[in-house]
Amino acid sequence: MVAIPGPSIIPDRVLEAMARPMPDLYEGELTTVGADVRARLPAVAGTEGEAFLLTANGHGAWQMATSNTLARGDRVLVCESGLFATVWGEQTARSDVEVEFLPGDFRGPVDPDALEARLRADVDHEIAAVLAVHVDTASSVRNDVVALRAAIDRAGHPALFMVDCIASLACERFEMDEWGVDVAVAASQKGLMVPPGISFVWAGERALAAHDRADMRVGYLDWQKRRVREPQYLYFGGTPPIAHLYGLRTALDLIEEEGGLPAVWHRHEVLADAVRAAVEGWSTPEGIGFNIVDPAHRSNCVTTVRTGSIDAVELRRRCREEAGLVIGLGIGDAGAFRIGHMGHLNPPMLLGTLATVEAALRSVDAPLGGSGVAAATEVIGAALAGGEGSA
Ligand SMILES: *Cc1c(COP(=O)(O)O)cnc(C)c1O
Repeated sequence: MVAIPGPSIIPDRVLEAMARPMPDLYEGELTTVGADVRARLPAVAGTEGEAFLLTANGHGAWQMATSNTLARGDRVLVCESGLFATVWGEQTARSDVEVEFLPGDFRGPVDPDALEARLRADVDHEIAAVLAVHVDTASSVRNDVVALRAAIDRAGHPALFMVDCIASLACERFEMDEWGVDVAVAASQKGLMVPPGISFVWAGERALAAHDRADMRVGYLDWQKRRVREPQYLYFGGTPPIAHLYGLRTALDLIEEEGGLPAVWHRHEVLADAVRAAVEGWSTPEGIGFNIVDPAHRSNCVTTVRTGSIDAVELRRRCREEAGLVIGLGIGDAGAFRIGHMGHLNPPMLLGTLATVEAALRSVDAPLGGSGVAAATEVIGAALAGGEGSA
């Protein structure tokens, strides 16, 4: 079983929906599925703007976001808070734009005051866009997107605000329009429970307006062509990712059947609380501990656990080779492991993961503060008592 922060576990119904003979490309059911998915996508990010779907991973969506909105020579400010915003910035720097990094801390969120100060200093408004991640999959921080928007507004700065929600979409509350996000980016293989291979870009009014002056547009990724309603293949830039479309439609159905995104967010919160209770239970001053210092910024989809004197590489090896559980290693820091708790997950799956990690910790004689599993079951138990199908 995988418990890494993407690709996540694919529900059987999604797998079944994807395993089908190829339909007619030009009429019939496929066109209905394509139109249905396209119509439902804006709501997934909380926007009335345009949703683009591309046959690429998250890196491809990053490229679509920047190439459609920036002009050569533009300056971009990348808010670091782990690894992924930095990588997005490095990719963007390989185009003709100047990328500046707002230094961050691997153990905490982007500082809104630092962002405001940098934007205030940019009196000539040379910065065309601010890039940030919602949840960073390496550090497991959840940035406060509302606070970052407020910082941009306080500085009175016109930069576009682009947010990578690849790890967090359909796990954590995200309201693109309400939060003032101009461009959002996501991919299929995390909270959306579909195998890797498709990704998404949502564009609000200001981003679509910026598109008119963007001179880095790439033919294949150009929004202008993809905004066309008919024929449908223009929207997909060619043959649609047919199996993925069927899978995604089913994944969106699963979300609806659960009670919509608020119910899904709530389940993620309960399960993440259980993970956090377990880590808290295991923690000791010299051993296990949270990477993210401030509890308010620990994400509901991935948790990075620092291991102190415990050998994280050996721990991961035992989980995988002796127990069949794949956890993530720390990225950029070998002294950590990561538990992905995103997407298709329920209490038996999560408690199985936590109990297996605890067993592996005991097998390496890790110093433990106590049973994390016992603490996690208390959280799940309280949710079960609360009813509402919350866990
Ligand atoms: C997974 C992830 C990416 C990279 O997505 P790919 O599909 O591998 O290109 C980027 N940003 C975040 C926050 C992620 O979690």
